[in-house]
Amino acid sequence: MASHFRRLRVQDVRRETSDCVSVAFAVPDDLREEFRFIQGQNITIRTQVGKEEIRRSYSICSSPFEEELRIAVKKVPGGLFSTYANDQLRMGDELDVLPPTGAFYTPLNPAKPKNYLAFAAGSGITPILSLIKTVLAVEPDSQFTLVYGNRHRPSIIFREELESLKNRYMHRLALHHILSREKTDISLHQGVRQRESHREQQDRENVAEPAPDREEESCHKSRHQAVPDHHLGEYKGLACSRHRPGERSEQQVG
Ligand SMILES: Cc1cc2nc3c(=O)[nH]c(=O)nc-3n(C[C@H](O)[C@H](O)[C@H](O)COP(=O)(O)OP(=O)(O)OC[C@H]3O[C@@H](n4cnc5c(N)ncnc54)[C@H](O)[C@@H]3O)c2cc1C
Repeated sequence: MASHFRRLRVQDVRRETSDCVSVAFAVPDDLREEFRFIQGQNITIRTQVGKEEIRRSYSICSSPFEEELRIAVKKVPGGLFSTYANDQLRMGDELDVLPPTGAFYTPLNPAKPKNYLAFAAGSGITPILSLIKTVLAVEPDSQFTLVYGNRHRPSIIFREELESLKNRYMHRLALHHILSREKTDISLHQGVRQRESHREQQDRENVAEPAPDREEESCHKSRHQAVPDHHLGEYKGLACSRHRPGERSEQQVG
């Protein structure tokens, strides 16, 4: 069945960081089925900015269990919709929205625990947040590792929500923040560019191997703004093979 734009009312606009807002939509009962979504999916918004009609896609950051359709929009310099959303969009405004679409997820099965590994940069966290919340709720024995790159601490979108998830799922969620423009006083790692010393350090720390009963591993990478692939690539090798739930770290990328 072809999807059509539906007019939805903005239920809430929440400032997440100085250049990012999250926006929740009210979904009326008669559209509830059409707007049912799977973790990691996205919606397309159509609106008029000035004289121009624009369409933009945004990943859903809420989990299907939260009974909320919420996205996060990071302001792009000179960007039409992201600037409008950050500076002008208000509760009660209406936007045309296409029902959720996309396949940025893997099927969940509570009987098959997995190790999930996700890399996110900036606003790329939006679908990953939905995945984390859903996976940890649905698969009680699965573990999730997030490597999340940002410029500095104040620009970390959903920092508090991630921290509270970390507290809730202490032994199943591992959070690794990489801050490219901030010196941290945590000497755990000296930066991902120093590949050899990082590996050696991990070896010294005798990081636990993944639990042997994990049948599969699932790896997600999400970014909406450029982050050098070689940074993420180095982490891929390390984090896929070494996972220690319950840990939280901050690292500086040189
Ligand atoms: C599946 C998907 C999911 C996404 N999820 C998210 C999300 O969760 N959160 C999020 O923040 N973003 C997300 N995005 C990105 C989002 O769709 C928009 O691209 C982003 O918000 C920028 O839109 P904008 O209208 O603000 O910028 P635009 O108006 O599209 O401009 C983007 C940039 O291009 C420049 N530009 C525009 N026109 C020209 C021109 N003619 N010549 C030169 N430069 C030009 C602008 O100055 C600006 O720097 C997602 C994209 C996709 C495809």
